[in-house]
Amino acid sequence: MGQTCGMPSSETEPATPVGRVRPAVDALPAYKPGKAAEQAEREHNIAEAIKLASNENPYPPPAAVVDAVAAACRGGNIYCDHRATAVREALADRLRLAVEQVTVGAGSVALLYQLATAYIDPGDEAVTPWISFEAYPISVQTMGGTLVRVPLTTDHAFDLDAVAGAVTERTKLVLLATPNNPTGTAVSTTAVSRLLESVPGDVVVLVDEAYREFADPALGDPVTELLPRFDNVAVARTFSKAYGLASLRVGYVMAHPEVVSAIDKCLIPFNVNGLAQAAALAALSDGATGEAQANIDTIKAERGRLAAALTADGWVIPDAQANFVWMQLGDRTDEVCIALEQRGVVVRPFSGVGVRVTVGTPAQNDRFLSTLAEVARPG
Ligand SMILES: *Cc1c(COP(=O)(O)O)cnc(C)c1O
Repeated sequence: MGQTCGMPSSETEPATPVGRVRPAVDALPAYKPGKAAEQAEREHNIAEAIKLASNENPYPPPAAVVDAVAAACRGGNIYCDHRATAVREALADRLRLAVEQVTVGAGSVALLYQLATAYIDPGDEAVTPWISFEAYPISVQTMGGTLVRVPLTTDHAFDLDAVAGAVTERTKLVLLATPNNPTGTAVSTTAVSRLLESVPGDVVVLVDEAYREFADPALGDPVTELLPRFDNVAVARTFSKAYGLASLRVGYVMAHPEVVSAIDKCLIPFNVNGLAQAAALAALSDGATGEAQANIDTIKAERGRLAAALTADGWVIPDAQANFVWMQLGDRTDEVCIALEQRGVVVRPFSGVGVRVTVGTPAQNDRFLSTLAEVARPG
């Protein structure tokens, strides 16, 4: 614009755009994170709000992780290992995979974006059951691709036949969150293997297991059951939820070495920072894993208690396999969420569809249940 200050010279003159943003980016919806408790407190002029809106672990990271991160701070002046080699090796060792089959990212969301960057050209398609993770449309549309959404069944489950049926020659990716966010329902490894048998081998199927540790182990393990059989399956996991490392940003993908190297090419330099790498390594130690497992057990027990209490009150709750419960409130969603929030209980609304409530500490869950009973009745 050639002016010294950044503002247009006149309000009547049509503003010259500052740069020509790509249409795909211009059209993007913004990712909406769950509202922080502090923000709700300010907005409603209340105190002691609790956040059950982002599927966070209510417990801090294992002690060994906190210590390792504190120690790693001292090396903060030196660039970390771009490839997070030690973390890859530790994961490969634990998962009995070749190190070439493992990649590490700044959260599994970063790996999702890298996957989209590696595989989606303008006009390409990715297929996903919907409603699902809200980062899926953004990652695909950023690349100029289209996310083809296949409706869930009436009991909030995936219709994998319909997913297979939606695959066309334009399809590059299939994105399956299991357990699904936000419905909490899960599909078995056997069901995913049938899907893999019916989609072309050059379509990468991402099995996003961000909540795996909370799910019924009887659903199966795609790493041991699918990875050896299908070159086009990729499995994503994360330290964010079960290990309580959400803010440290570290997740991983297991896949065929060719898929791993494509994802790696799209890694922003040093994106998995040194503190995140130290945290992940410490999280894989026996002591930390034991601590995390104790928290997972508590959260699963609380999820059962929450679902049972809601069901006893007459709410219909789909099978909950993650660290949250889903209430399909339809048109009442926003109204119920605002009423809860005004009383200091921040949950996650999906406008017009339903509300996702993260399992918190026992006291937080009690507070949610009693506040819900004040503001809404089933019906
Ligand atoms: C929370 C979540 C993730 C993981 O996010 P990170 O980037 O690893 O923190 C991935 N997929 C789904 C479906 C999620 O809900």
